[in-house]
Amino acid sequence: MNVNQQPHMASPYGQPQPGYQGYPQSGYGGQHVPGGYPAPYAPYNGPASAYQPVSQPSVSAAYTPSAPSSFAPTSTVPTQPPSTEGTPQPYYGAPPQQPFPTAAPPFSAPGPTQPPGPPLASQQTFPQAPPPSQPPFSSAPPQVPPASYGGPPPPVQASHPRAAPPTSQPAAFPGGPPPTSTPTQYTGPPMQQPPVSQPSSFHSGPPPPPTSAAGFPPQGGAPPRPPHPGIQGPPLASQGPPMSQANHVAPPQPGMLAGPPVPGMAGPPPQPGMQGYPPQQNGAFGQVRGPQPGYAGPYPGQQSYGAAPPAQAPAPPAPKRLDPDSIPSPIQVIEDDKANKGSEPFVTGVRGQAPPLVTTNFHVKDQGNASPRFIRCTAYNIPCTSDMAKQSQVPLAAVIKPLATLPPDENSPYIVDHGESGPIRCNRCKAYMCPYMQFIEGGRRFQCGFCSCVTEVPPHYFQHLDHTGKRVDCYDRPELSLGSYEFLATVDYCKNNKIPQPPAFIFLIDVSYNAVKNGMVRIVCQELKTLLDYLPRENPDVQSNIRVGFATYNKVLHFYNVKASLAQPQMMVVSDVADMFVPLLDGFLVNVSESRVVIESLLDQIPDMFADTRETETVFGPVIQAGLEALKAADCAGKLFVFHTSLPIAEAPGKLKNREDKKLVGTDKEKSLFQPQVSFYANLAKECVAQGCCVDLFLFPNQYVDVATLGVVPTSTGGSVYKYTYFQAQSDQERFLNDLRKDIQKKVGFDAVMRVRTSTGIRATDFFGSFYMSNTTDVELAGLDCDKTVTVEFRHDDKLSEETGALMQCAVLYTSCSGQRRLRIHNMAVNCCAQLADLYRNCETDTIINFFAKYAYRCVLNNPTKNVRDSLVNQCAQILACYRKNCASPSSAGQLILPECMKLLPVYLNCVLKSDVLHPGADVSLDDRAYLRQLVSAMDVAESHVFFYPRLLPVHKLDVECDTLPVAIRDSEERLSKGGIYLLETGLNLFLWVGANAQQELLQNIFGTPAFGQIDSNMTSLPILDNPYSKRVREIVESFRAQRSRYMKLMVVKQEDKLELIFKHFLVEDKNNSGGASYVDFLCHMHKEIRQLLS
Ligand SMILES: [Zn+2]
Repeated sequence: MNVNQQPHMASPYGQPQPGYQGYPQSGYGGQHVPGGYPAPYAPYNGPASAYQPVSQPSVSAAYTPSAPSSFAPTSTVPTQPPSTEGTPQPYYGAPPQQPFPTAAPPFSAPGPTQPPGPPLASQQTFPQAPPPSQPPFSSAPPQVPPASYGGPPPPVQASHPRAAPPTSQPAAFPGGPPPTSTPTQYTGPPMQQPPVSQPSSFHSGPPPPPTSAAGFPPQGGAPPRPPHPGIQGPPLASQGPPMSQANHVAPPQPGMLAGPPVPGMAGPPPQPGMQGYPPQQNGAFGQVRGPQPGYAGPYPGQQSYGAAPPAQAPAPPAPKRLDPDSIPSPIQVIEDDKANKGSEPFVTGVRGQAPPLVTTNFHVKDQGNASPRFIRCTAYNIPCTSDMAKQSQVPLAAVIKPLATLPPDENSPYIVDHGESGPIRCNRCKAYMCPYMQFIEGGRRFQCGFCSCVTEVPPHYFQHLDHTGKRVDCYDRPELSLGSYEFLATVDYCKNNKIPQPPAFIFLIDVSYNAVKNGMVRIVCQELKTLLDYLPRENPDVQSNIRVGFATYNKVLHFYNVKASLAQPQMMVVSDVADMFVPLLDGFLVNVSESRVVIESLLDQIPDMFADTRETETVFGPVIQAGLEALKAADCAGKLFVFHTSLPIAEAPGKLKNREDKKLVGTDKEKSLFQPQVSFYANLAKECVAQGCCVDLFLFPNQYVDVATLGVVPTSTGGSVYKYTYFQAQSDQERFLNDLRKDIQKKVGFDAVMRVRTSTGIRATDFFGSFYMSNTTDVELAGLDCDKTVTVEFRHDDKLSEETGALMQCAVLYTSCSGQRRLRIHNMAVNCCAQLADLYRNCETDTIINFFAKYAYRCVLNNPTKNVRDSLVNQCAQILACYRKNCASPSSAGQLILPECMKLLPVYLNCVLKSDVLHPGADVSLDDRAYLRQLVSAMDVAESHVFFYPRLLPVHKLDVECDTLPVAIRDSEERLSKGGIYLLETGLNLFLWVGANAQQELLQNIFGTPAFGQIDSNMTSLPILDNPYSKRVREIVESFRAQRSRYMKLMVVKQEDKLELIFKHFLVEDKNNSGGASYVDFLCHMHKEIRQLLS
């Protein structure tokens, strides 16, 4: 490719231009690159029909929005009799028999604002209807649909429903921190006493029993929900075993709230005088909404709120746990977002606009900021000052997936060629031309949006400005109007100022005893014969430029000469592995089409050559060295595919010993298990990065292989590690082959360097992912594929301004699979805010969790896991306490008040805390933990979301007549029905759980047998039956697989079967066997932490 080709100076491109005919990039413009989405050439999915490409769109499209939402900004989760001032919506109250009783914490003590009230006994005298003084909110419920999700899509909402109207807020709170979320009429200083009719609202008077079905918003918090029955009940002091659910009866966790109630958790007993005050204050803080006739309550089970208050006995008979239906539900949030944001395109032109959640299907229109498929931020309103940021403890980070695959209906980034002089950049900070550059002096110069430096416009790039100061060609140029695009790089951007050679793929296959015996060698060789026709390329009509090479090894290495002119491949053995070299320069790396016959012959012979091997020992370091040396000799970048089975104990550089010691788990020495046992691989990784040598490692271990050490090179070079423990050809080859096919075919760039520039006042300070850094700013990736993300944390180094916001520009210089050197640019502008409330209004919890998980998973390298967990809990408590203190309206400390956009922070955080890396069960191997730790480090937000909070789909509710999927349910055993069948997806695994009482017809349709007892739980794929149900279920399974970067093996789990334990591990709202808290317990724990901080 000629990087100096003429610039497409005036080519039209993109949406903004009417009459756009397509940007004339050969093989690129407007085209979609091969990848996870329908590719320009048919991706190879294997010969078997079972590997048919999946029709992903059909199912993902099936997510129809349903519930229109009325998002109110604040979520309230009272853990004691709520005082509802400013707390629009109690999630649960401390039920009378609540397991977390109640020492009266300082807050909840009746304060000066607490009016005396009737004694407890009078509780039931709550007015059934709001008193006259109450604003009409209870009778004008928000527009919220009933809990059912299956209904027709709601009316389309405004495209930014999530944020409360910004304008009204700051103005409304002249004197103090505004209540973030709730647009309100409250104009006085926050702490000010409310109007007379609402005195009770400042403390813990429970709201009256719900009087009618009048609408309460699902979780939005604005208008009140009916109080939990427990709230009005008798004293909270009662303790007792948690509850009726088996899975919640686990023994108490040290330091956690599980088990018997913890004093102090639930807040004080109801205060006299609390009762009898209607929750009118909710109205005062809630959004005013129109009545919603017929709204019956957002949650199933909510009806129970209306029940008469429990008995007043001081010592209630049976302890009762909090009602999980009354605490924030991930499913509700996900469904609300789909309803609100799924139906309209997400237009990126508005600064600081939070995108739809990763679980929502949406279309993106690039109008100047990078698509959320490329960049997601933890916060879209970032604090103006460092002090504010510290106070809130909200992490400021962006999760960047530079080469993300876009869906077919979105344009891939256009390629821009600025000619011989290369991309136009700021003279000082070197930021690339982008929509944030301001042209001045009639277009002769431009001022940099990042550093303010003024730079001359080169004559060839000059253009006149229109009356608004915009260049008249603004919309003709991607770099002036889009968030994402690519520049052709000139030779100046190439290593050693040389145009790069096309990259090479080298396959290195372990042929030791285990590898041969478990079938891996034969499977790999067989598959490669076909797969080599599907190497990455940018134009489906031309052959891939990628060259290939092959070697096998056990404790020596065998190189193969597969030059086209040979009649048969030649093997060269290198048995001195101490100083690895490549014994042949000519004939090792070849073009597939030229050498096809020789290559096929080789791949046919390899399994037979080693069929009788007795060699059990392997080397590993020399294998990577060999691949690296081959790339060096060919002077190109590339990728090594290493297929490996065992701990490399043979005498060689990088030799390892078995150091597996489970006794260290939970001790201060546990961290050493996550660290590599030798420094050899870190040094090797550095060399690999310098050469652009990316390593993908496929592991087939039968025992400990020390993933923590073997994974160092892959995770430092932008590569991937795949692990197939106890690999058996029959049950695992489908997963392995699909992973391999995807891995080989996917879009990948080589020899990449990424830099994130920011506007003055903020800078990138920390990075997470699979890469190497030799300085503090450049993220080096020997390879960068479409699934890899880099998470970047930002810190202030100066004040930011609300007016200008904050800008970031991510530039990735890489070599495309065709050998072209390019720069991919992603721009992102976010708002800055001087009020904490604005920060809390515009965060994205899924991204925050992605960041926290990566942060924690790195911390375990140097800290005991318990400390890591504690500090995570502490930081989240600080985040929520800061909100409570500065943004929420004053109210009883007995209430847990969560920012609307962070109301799922506790549930998701708990999932991170109890993940196998941070809190392993006895059955989790050290290799598994190291593997997951590495895997999560490069995950995007969609994958980390489903990884930590799996998707659980009630298959028995499937309507085969329509394309929509049934609404998922919460990850808890109590949500499962014995008569149901459920599909659970974690991003790595798929389980089909079959209830013991599932309908015979259903079983017949899906499994081909009406008898539960006859279902074979060893099956890894569903039988292909000729009925709509079978077809639909298999389609869903395939569609789930198509959405993930790794193939998910299907496991059928029958209720009460031994496999059920594994399945239950993913029911993350429940207590788990290794001591992980249930969601309910953890929420109480968080509340306690928050209250401690507030006191
Ligand atoms: Zn600049």
